[in-house]
Amino acid sequence: MTNLKELHQQYVMPTYAPGLTLVRGEGAVVWDDAGREYLDFSSGIAVCGTGHCHPAVVAAIREQAGKLIHCSNLFHNELQPRLAQKISALGLGGKVFFANSGAEANEALFKLARKWGSSTGRYEIITMKNSFHGRTLATMTATGQTKYQKGFEPLMPGFVYADFNQLDSVRAAITPRTVAVLCESVQGEGGIIPATQEFMTGLRELCTEKNVLLFFDEVQTGIGRTGKWLGFQNYGIRADGFSLAKGLGSGYPIGAAAVTPELSDVFQPGNHASTFGGTPLACAAALATLETIEKENLMANAVAMGARLTDGLKKLAARHDCIQGVRGLGLMIGLALNVPAKPVEAKLREQGVLTIATGESVLRFVPPLVISAPQIDQALAILDKVL
Ligand SMILES: *Cc1c(COP(=O)(O)O)cnc(C)c1O
Repeated sequence: MTNLKELHQQYVMPTYAPGLTLVRGEGAVVWDDAGREYLDFSSGIAVCGTGHCHPAVVAAIREQAGKLIHCSNLFHNELQPRLAQKISALGLGGKVFFANSGAEANEALFKLARKWGSSTGRYEIITMKNSFHGRTLATMTATGQTKYQKGFEPLMPGFVYADFNQLDSVRAAITPRTVAVLCESVQGEGGIIPATQEFMTGLRELCTEKNVLLFFDEVQTGIGRTGKWLGFQNYGIRADGFSLAKGLGSGYPIGAAAVTPELSDVFQPGNHASTFGGTPLACAAALATLETIEKENLMANAVAMGARLTDGLKKLAARHDCIQGVRGLGLMIGLALNVPAKPVEAKLREQGVLTIATGESVLRFVPPLVISAPQIDQALAILDKVL
């Protein structure tokens, strides 16, 4: 397998620095090329919510792959309207645009907002500092962290930044040109920082008062990760639109942007498109994902297992000075350390637990929603030893 790593080094652009070679997965467990087993608290970066290779998802992909993989959006396919109906029913009751990634789903929201605001000359979109919205030129600009933007200037015009969880900062950023606000309900790449109830309630009121669209980037928080279908639903507020991707297809690439009925016909034929958006195969994977989460009560499990993991981490905090705090929502949990998180991530991997270091000193736990109590306890015991 060194050969494989050499090939990678020689032929794959070095945008990532992968360590292990994974060859198989089942539920919350993955295996490497040496046959070693790992408890996966990374889920392919919060993607494999139904667990690795859930039989229902595998069966749906297999069946559809033998029937029709792709036909473009010049034709109807049997699954896309059904998936759109399901996504609409998750929250806003309007229409859906299909894409292939989180960045593309956010791009759809940006274009929709600009189109909506164009008759009144409004185009500015407010995003939050410390946010993450993707790596394309527009979504990288929307991402309120200069480390992702350095070297890629000039940035896309029309983005303005406000302080997350500071309503006054958003209010001050609104101008006669503002068309929308885009926000995460829990900042993911920014270090697992949940929005406060006060901020979310205030943001909704402010956007309504100013006739500004309120969009949530649910790419990481969506599809049950926080214990609700959508992260913002934990706060009892309504959005004007949201984006999805990571958890939607159990690992099969698919993204979606969904809006309210009022915004559902802003895009007209020719305004926006994606060759691969909503292919039969992608929709089969997503439909099976949504059905599985429903049928197996995985959101209730996310709440219960999230509470168990949070409690366990808080107990470890009493025993280890390097722990600063525990925060999160559902099964999206951050362990804030006062030491660099990368070496802890590496030690955990050596001991058979996969996590993700975010920022300088936050260890992120985003296990599959199917994770069990014994698996949580086992990971906590290993973490105790590693710390
Ligand atoms: C991962 C992520 C994105 C980008 O998704 P891609 O599929 O990598 O383009 C956007 N927003 C949030 C909140 C994310 O976590």
